[in-house]
Amino acid sequence: MASPAIPSAIPPAATKDLIKGIAPDAVSTPVPDAVSTPEMSSTAPAPGGLIVLAGPSGVGKGTLLTRLLQTHPEMTVSVSATTRQPRTGEVEGEHYFFRTRAQFEAMVQAGDLLEWAEFAGNCYGTPKAPIESAIAKGRQVILEIELLGARQVRESFPEAKQIFILPPDVETLEARIRSRGQDSEAAIEKRLKQAKVELAAADEFDLKIVNDNLEAALAKLTAAILD
Ligand code: 5GP
Repeated sequence: MASPAIPSAIPPAATKDLIKGIAPDAVSTPVPDAVSTPEMSSTAPAPGGLIVLAGPSGVGKGTLLTRLLQTHPEMTVSVSATTRQPRTGEVEGEHYFFRTRAQFEAMVQAGDLLEWAEFAGNCYGTPKAPIESAIAKGRQVILEIELLGARQVRESFPEAKQIFILPPDVETLEARIRSRGQDSEAAIEKRLKQAKVELAAADEFDLKIVNDNLEAALAKLTAAILD
């Protein structure tokens, strides 16, 4: 559930206008307006678009996207802001923009986030400016987000393709969440509880892909995005 301390996300209509470049009023920039993909070399960029990749924590969304970018560096994966503490090996600006709760609230207040939600006790949100910039350059932008954020994007940007990654079964998912070894037992319990909520919502999505085999799931994801 969203924290009551933080005002609700920007109205869907305003978000859509911003994405389409109709109402680019100056907004404060919470994070560097940069993404980690190279410039496209084509002279006439294809129209950019948004793709939402959702699915329970531990299902392998991050691994799939890392692999996807290796073969499709022209795609952009949005870097989210979060109040979560960095895990070992996570790099500021690469995996997340790590922010304090107060800094995150300021970003929400300023309308700097395309969507945001609270997940397992921390806030996560998609910085809007880098998305607008990448779409304006004709790029496909992928958001790797949880269920509530996916629902917000469905309202504000119904054209976005929404893809849900499923685990082969709940036991495998639990084992994957635990094998990460960096979350407290309390955090793991919250993630497992939330995973069941998310799995129950899988039918809301345009496409479901079971990640029982990484290569097969990657092939399906790539085909769905390029479709
Ligand atoms: P983790 O803490 O494991 O990195 O992420 C927890 C959950 O937050 C994952 O399901 C991930 O997809 C989701 N998440 C990451 N970034 C965002 C974001 O910008 N917005 C929303 N709504 N969820 C996000």
